[in-house]
Amino acid sequence: MCVLEVEAAKPKILSLCHEVAEHENMVWVCDGAANVGQVGHEVGVLLTNLGKARMCCITAVAASSKPHLEIAERAKKNIVINGCANRCASKVFENAGEKIDYEIVISKYLKKVPTLDIYMGDVKKIAQTIIEEAKL
Ligand code: SF4
Repeated sequence: MCVLEVEAAKPKILSLCHEVAEHENMVWVCDGAANVGQVGHEVGVLLTNLGKARMCCITAVAASSKPHLEIAERAKKNIVINGCANRCASKVFENAGEKIDYEIVISKYLKKVPTLDIYMGDVKKIAQTIIEEAKL
């Protein structure tokens, strides 16, 4: 899909994270620049659009943004998605002293490759695994 098509589509407006944190499973993705990181990003988008979770800004947690730290504290569940065994997203949470209710390392399921081209089949498979294991 090209940028113009994205701009033409009506956006799905989400609830604000800080208004719904207690009632939502918040999903935090590493968004790494490899297939596994980008699959993780799309899994976060898919879980959000399915109403299973709400994606929130993990970079803001790493930057010690007070509102985002509070969202992580108040979340019903924190679902943390790492692309690979470096576990950058989980380390952000650990360094911030925030609880992790469920974490996944996508490279356990999918070989890490230096490409940004990903497949929706992989995204759906990982999303289904998270839904089952984290009981979303
Ligand atoms: S966990 Fe892996 S893929 Fe994700 S940001 Fe860190 S190094 Fe990149």
